[in-house]
Amino acid sequence: MKNSDQKNRNLDDLSPLDTRKEWKLLYYKPGKPGLEEGYKLAGICRHCELKEMCPIPKPEGGVWRCSYYRAFQKKSNLYSHVLEQLEKAKDVVPFDDDICKILTETMNEIVVHFPVKMKDGRVKVLTGYRVQHNNILGPFKGGLRFHPSVDIDEIKALATLMTWKTAITNIPFGGAKGGIQLDPADFSREEIERISRRFTYALGNNIGPEYDIPAPDVNTNSQIMAWIQDTYMSTVAPNERNRSVHVVTGKPIESGGSQGREKATGQGVVFLIEKWASDHGMNLEGATYTVQGFGNVGSWAARLMKKHGSKLIAVEDVTGAILNKESIDPDDLAAYVKVHGGVRGYLKAEPIDHVTFFTTKSDIFIPCALENQITDATAELLDVRLVAEGANGPTDPQGDKILQRRNIAVIPDILCNSGGVIVSYFEWLQNKRSEFWELEEVDMKLRKTIIAAYERVQDAAERYKVDLRTAAQIVALARLEIVYKERGIFP
Ligand code: NAD
Repeated sequence: MKNSDQKNRNLDDLSPLDTRKEWKLLYYKPGKPGLEEGYKLAGICRHCELKEMCPIPKPEGGVWRCSYYRAFQKKSNLYSHVLEQLEKAKDVVPFDDDICKILTETMNEIVVHFPVKMKDGRVKVLTGYRVQHNNILGPFKGGLRFHPSVDIDEIKALATLMTWKTAITNIPFGGAKGGIQLDPADFSREEIERISRRFTYALGNNIGPEYDIPAPDVNTNSQIMAWIQDTYMSTVAPNERNRSVHVVTGKPIESGGSQGREKATGQGVVFLIEKWASDHGMNLEGATYTVQGFGNVGSWAARLMKKHGSKLIAVEDVTGAILNKESIDPDDLAAYVKVHGGVRGYLKAEPIDHVTFFTTKSDIFIPCALENQITDATAELLDVRLVAEGANGPTDPQGDKILQRRNIAVIPDILCNSGGVIVSYFEWLQNKRSEFWELEEVDMKLRKTIIAAYERVQDAAERYKVDLRTAAQIVALARLEIVYKERGIFP
């Protein structure tokens, strides 16, 4: 048998479901959870051919490993979960069918393919998305995500969640989301800058300070927002430039960002944990918590919990999971992650696997990574009183049912992580008014806004005798329904 036949036969054996015979070589650090899902396409490891678990040197040093996983066109199921949740609310409150019909579709779905020159001189064509779900309450608003799992369904789901979030919090924005399908680890900083700028150029006037305002999300940050801002401002007419500063939020302070925006999502999560704890007689001093995802949201939530004397005991991120039952200092861990890119190898805690992480007993679990992490498998493992959803869509519908059956309280994503968009609104307002608010003012206004949203959701939960997730959905739909009824459908 020829070498290539052998290769094809083995590919078939390994991937009976994959008719496209496309494979991706994945590099991962041992212990990294959940890699199989969401990755797609292409290439054969020239180092090990079809052998699994072949240790190879990581380009920047250190040892990574390569492995083959079945390549598949990822079907993001988050969108169907989002629509399922809408139906659940509709079963409780008979919202207008026509209005729900509008809200189950996204208004605009923009897909751009754009070329970018890589550092080796070659050109790569990347695919980027911007989905604008609804703007009846105000300009489209939502983050930009750089991740291999990004596809149109994932972005549609996240854009829809943004509409609910802005409706619950009573801020005058609609819902949108965007992203580029890429793994940032495959690109240098200069390449990421060129990708961000070229994506902005490709989107053109599909974004704009009064129309659609991006912000950071997974694997994007204030630096990327500054590049987007600069590209947008450089491509509009000269007399429009200084009126376009607020085309993005989550910018660096010096470029028009707001005090408190970087920590805002984590801060909002912690304000709501404080509220829930005081309503349910949980003393946060000495309470234990675990955090999944130690990026912007997770690290800030963890660090702000420390102020209450709560103890962080386990953390999981894309590089692995760690445990220290005595407590992990979140500031020290954040400094470590900044240097090493993840929690793996942190010596003041022991490495644990994914199952042990989920089984670790604590008072509060704060998921701040990706969607679909609390599933029928992991929801049974959790031994906590409260799940505070920093991430978008971290709990799938089966996981949600199990949490309810096990009486584990949940502060749902569309409420819990809304601190980011609330302070993005404050940043946008400051830019429009040429104002600069102090941190205390931002924090005070954030607290007031997010607690008021919590109280609206809690009132709905009591009134309709439903869980907080369904109640949050009801509050969002009720606000949108009022506005649609007042304005009617054009023409
Ligand atoms: P980030 O890129 O700063 O951090 C993501 C973290 O998740 C990293 O620590 C990464 O290692 C970890 N991670 C990724 N895949 C993982 C996996 N399979 N298992 C465990 N950990 C994994 O992103 P972020 O901005 O902190 O966003 C995190 C979540 O919060 C996302 O769901 C995002 O949509 C949501 N969110 C973010 C904001 C914001 O302001 N940044 C606002 C609202 C909601």
